[in-house]
Amino acid sequence: MTAEHRPERIRALIGEYAAEFRKTALPMHDGEVAVEDVVRSLDLELLRFSLPQEFNDTPLMIGSDPLYVRRISESVIVQEELSWGDAGLMLAMPWASLAAFVIDQMAGPEIRESHYSRLANNAEWTYFAVTEPEHGSDPVSMETTLSRDDEGWVINGTKRYVGQGHRGTTGLVFCRREGTSGPMGLEVVLVGSETAGFTSAPLQTIGLRGAGLSELNYDSVRVPDDHVLGQQGKSTRRGLFGASHTFDMLRPGVGAMALGVARAAYDYVRAERRALRAEEEASMESIRQRILGTRSLIAAAARAVDAGKPSGPLSSAAKLEAVRLAEDATVEALRLLGPCARLEHPLLDKFRRDAQGFEYMEGMTDIQRQNAAQGYLTNRFWTAPTGLHP
Ligand SMILES: Cc1cc2nc3c(=O)[nH]c(=O)nc-3n(C[C@H](O)[C@H](O)[C@H](O)COP(=O)(O)OP(=O)(O)OC[C@H]3O[C@@H](n4cnc5c(N)ncnc54)[C@H](O)[C@@H]3O)c2cc1C
Repeated sequence: MTAEHRPERIRALIGEYAAEFRKTALPMHDGEVAVEDVVRSLDLELLRFSLPQEFNDTPLMIGSDPLYVRRISESVIVQEELSWGDAGLMLAMPWASLAAFVIDQMAGPEIRESHYSRLANNAEWTYFAVTEPEHGSDPVSMETTLSRDDEGWVINGTKRYVGQGHRGTTGLVFCRREGTSGPMGLEVVLVGSETAGFTSAPLQTIGLRGAGLSELNYDSVRVPDDHVLGQQGKSTRRGLFGASHTFDMLRPGVGAMALGVARAAYDYVRAERRALRAEEEASMESIRQRILGTRSLIAAAARAVDAGKPSGPLSSAAKLEAVRLAEDATVEALRLLGPCARLEHPLLDKFRRDAQGFEYMEGMTDIQRQNAAQGYLTNRFWTAPTGLHP
């Protein structure tokens, strides 16, 4: 397979799985089938798509070539395609989580080894808990504490809106070291869900139900020393800095999921309304052009990450554009299918609900706008040749 044709081959392969995702999209959204059952019925090759090569002995195959989806520029293709099928199920995939990525970036070799060895053999979920009931995801005001007594580290606090929190067998918790203020006092800690003092509960959501948003409570939860991540690395790889670096790397993926939903809405209208008036056709053409443009922007942000020079501002711009497009495409699709569209087209109603969730993932629109503008004004937008800018 030539490098030039690889993206198309990946898209075609994952597109077949996406068509399968579509079959359970509504029943899972409506609660007629359990997320856990749908996930466990998926092919192991697909479930394991993001695992490192050394932990994956059943990779996806493109012809005779194994496909390990470890580069962000390939991951965004997978995320877009699977989200076209069902963004909820895409978010329910156990091993494609933010936590796994943070472990890759920040954990020592032993933690990484034990984490992946366990996950590779069981369809287990992990979570990454930042958001709090009183302070949202603002790290500076975070109240969950990590303190130390004679027996070791202890976590106290509450997290809310955490994806897969109630399903996770382990999770990463963002805490403030007791007695500190400012960004340097923040730590990322690995916590097992069997640990005494940990409780969790699922939350109801209007869309993206596969994401499994949850509330988590830590009441004097004890953690071993080596579960406080990044201690062996530089201070710039720890806590807030390590996590925000990870967000910059993964934000194109959130954009890719939103793009998948935008495309799903576009294709839905094309399938349902064969004849459009001139004004309607112009609107659809504009959405089609935006889908292609946004895909290029996401690909550019992903290539910067793969080049080892992630650009926070470029990732923000890509996510911003994709979120706006998902909103616009789903609203427009409802308009084009008439005043009763939400009742008559439950799948489109679901796309509309799902589209609204991306705004909240990995930084809201206000923050992305600030990132993009500051990056542009300080000449940090294009960190690497991405094939997009002159
Ligand atoms: C599908 C989904 C999955 C999620 N998964 C996770 C997860 O796995 N883990 C997790 O921890 N959380 C998760 N979240 C929660 C998500 O991260 C938060 O909802 C989001 O960060 C915003 O927090 P908030 O809703 O409390 O709003 P707030 O942080 O309170 O913000 C409210 C408003 O104020 C604006 N604002 C805040 N600070 C500033 C500022 N400095 N300058 C300008 N404007 C500002 C925001 O942009 C926003 O418009 C998820 C949410 C969804 C919908």
